[in-house]
Amino acid sequence: MKLNVGEILAQMTLEEKAAFVSGKNFWNLKGLERFGVPSIMVTDGPHGLRKQDGSADHLGLNASVPATAFPTAAGLASTWDRDLVKQVGVALGEETQAENVGVILGPGVNIKRSPLGGRNFEYFSEDPYLASEMATSHVTGVQSQGVGTSLKHFAVNNQEHRRMSTDAIVDERTLREIYLAAFEGVVKNAQPWTVMTSYNRVNGTYASENEYLLTDILKGEWGHQGMVVSDWGGVNEAAEAIKAGNELEMPSSGEVGPQKVFKAVQEGTLPVEKLDQAVERILTLIAKVMEHKKENAAYDKEQHHQLARKVAADTMVLLKNEDNVLPLKKAGNIAVIGAFAEKPRYQGGGSSHIHPTRKDDVREEMQKLAGGAASFIYAKGYNIEEDAPNTSLIKEAQEAARQADVAVVFAGLPDRYESEGYDRSHMRLPDNHNELIAAVAEVQPNTIVVLSNGSPVEMPWLSSVKAVLEGYLAGQAFGGAAADLLFGEMSPSGKLAESFPKRLEDNPSYLYFPGEGDRVEYREGLFVGYRYYDKTKTETLFPFGHGLSYTTFEYSNLQISAHKLKDTDTIEVSVDVTNTGQVAGKEIVQLYVRDVESSVTRPDKELKGFGKVELAPGETKTVSMVLGKRAFAYYNVHLKDWYVETGEFEILVGRSSAGIELSETVHVESTSRGPKRIFTRNTTIGDILAHEDSADIVKAASEEMMKQFSQMGAGDEDDSTADMMGAMMKYLPLRNLVTFGGGSFSEEQLEELIQKLNALDE
Ligand code: BGC
Repeated sequence: MKLNVGEILAQMTLEEKAAFVSGKNFWNLKGLERFGVPSIMVTDGPHGLRKQDGSADHLGLNASVPATAFPTAAGLASTWDRDLVKQVGVALGEETQAENVGVILGPGVNIKRSPLGGRNFEYFSEDPYLASEMATSHVTGVQSQGVGTSLKHFAVNNQEHRRMSTDAIVDERTLREIYLAAFEGVVKNAQPWTVMTSYNRVNGTYASENEYLLTDILKGEWGHQGMVVSDWGGVNEAAEAIKAGNELEMPSSGEVGPQKVFKAVQEGTLPVEKLDQAVERILTLIAKVMEHKKENAAYDKEQHHQLARKVAADTMVLLKNEDNVLPLKKAGNIAVIGAFAEKPRYQGGGSSHIHPTRKDDVREEMQKLAGGAASFIYAKGYNIEEDAPNTSLIKEAQEAARQADVAVVFAGLPDRYESEGYDRSHMRLPDNHNELIAAVAEVQPNTIVVLSNGSPVEMPWLSSVKAVLEGYLAGQAFGGAAADLLFGEMSPSGKLAESFPKRLEDNPSYLYFPGEGDRVEYREGLFVGYRYYDKTKTETLFPFGHGLSYTTFEYSNLQISAHKLKDTDTIEVSVDVTNTGQVAGKEIVQLYVRDVESSVTRPDKELKGFGKVELAPGETKTVSMVLGKRAFAYYNVHLKDWYVETGEFEILVGRSSAGIELSETVHVESTSRGPKRIFTRNTTIGDILAHEDSADIVKAASEEMMKQFSQMGAGDEDDSTADMMGAMMKYLPLRNLVTFGGGSFSEEQLEELIQKLNALDE
């Protein structure tokens, strides 16, 4: 059955409309029986379905129906693989259909501002372009199955601390270039059926009441056609939310929201057109869900598990591999150490917590792959529930490691260390994990560490171990995927979607995170993650984009379709990648753009393209990437638009942000006028002389001034005096032509001059 949204809306009473903009219960929207509108269900997300059949909560406390637990976004982003993330989306969409759910609540695309963010495991990256590309694939995949997504949490929700009341204070350029850019790409390229507003305030106004964000930018500038839903309990004042463009309040607030909305319309403080728009968007969503509903939808659990295993292997990042200690030989004696080998940490806590269809056992999977050719010994090493090192467990682990040819230690962050709801206070692993690794490395030169964690950790033992495999939170197939990589069934191919700082103090948000009281100022501005480490030449533990393989790759033949272009043109950049090693592997090619010279502060370089190729030994493939205006632009706050400053830009192609292999320079010409220059009494002479078109106008007047100045410095032949004079002149406001001009220049002349200058840009 098809809904006629317009007709239904026209017949609804004010009371019905006011009630409709608040949910029915925890997971359902209201239906309208008399119009045949069903009550659709939405549930979390984002990397597996969390459909609760018993009593509902949004904290992940109560059980949900089994669903495939895919790796969380931190890992998905490390694949840098658009197709693979889309496949995950398709699988999620299938499960959503099969469970009769209309919208899966995710993905989350917030920027990882600080490594301490409690939900970093649920977010993609510190880089908006990578985050946006990954989320675009996710959304496209899910929605291809006829169910919706909810792109969340819009916007500037980068911490859990006081998440429902804090006010994120961020300047416009940073907002646009970093925090909104991640959402913008997904909205424009994938049209998520819904967008979820965040709990926090943004520059003084709750996200759910923020007309600038919701109406001006999301709907206006970006053209979002879908519905906006609040985060669960995120509505502050119901009528204000409707006015701003937050159409649906979830979960139901009972009579509270509807009554406030009803009253506001009656009193004239909420225009009924706004309410109509909200109802229309909600009805349109329901109509879409109904239209795409597949009767008797089902999915193949085994197939989804196999996909989860394949994806999990691609999410893992080989951070270090000294002496090629990995892959393991299927021979000898292998010590498997750490309670995480028995009880892996494979997902995060909170609303994304799901009930997996099954779980791989890493020890079993390793044994299967070794096929009896290797012998295994296991030692627990630590108790997951404790932090303090346990001497007897550590001794036992050392004993096992001593007897073995190689030791694989499974360590990471237990559930309590990171979750929705709170941020971390440090970047350390539990003491018992750190001590165990150090103790094992002391007796076993071939120590390998496999980490399970949702965000960066310090590695005080790094120099004493041979290899580190960052597993992130790899989902229910963690065990199989880890075994595949450890034994070289495939080569690791993940690369970091975030920087790993050496110390927390090195992180640019360190001084300002998570703010004071209910106010968090984003004072580091644009300099998030590698944008800061690059610019300040701060060494990281592992840079953004880093990741090793069991094979080696060579880059050659950088080609750019044009070296001179206008900002309205697009160019193609291509590079050849050759597998120069012995085994097959995948390489992630990264393209960064550097503005060689700019009148505004810009990061040293920014990611603007990437591609992933699979190569057999000896094989070469070409990776092509396309750059358009946005690759060169910055957000100009005066123009209120993206602006490219004419000049040279370096195209940097490489294996990581710290591993640029090839580069070329292009010249880009701006086709827009740039911001109108406004001249006042306080415009400096230097600023005017810098512009050819205005220089002549001010020259004569300033020459007289120069004369006066040089008299002041007469007789002094010193170069530094001349330099000082030059500098003083450069920074002199126009008004001083009158005051220092010795009567040669009048106030009237000054006024005339300013008028003439301002006429230039008309
Ligand atoms: C979370 C959302 C989630 C919602 C519903 C909130 O607490 O912030 O991400 O979708 O609950 O569970």
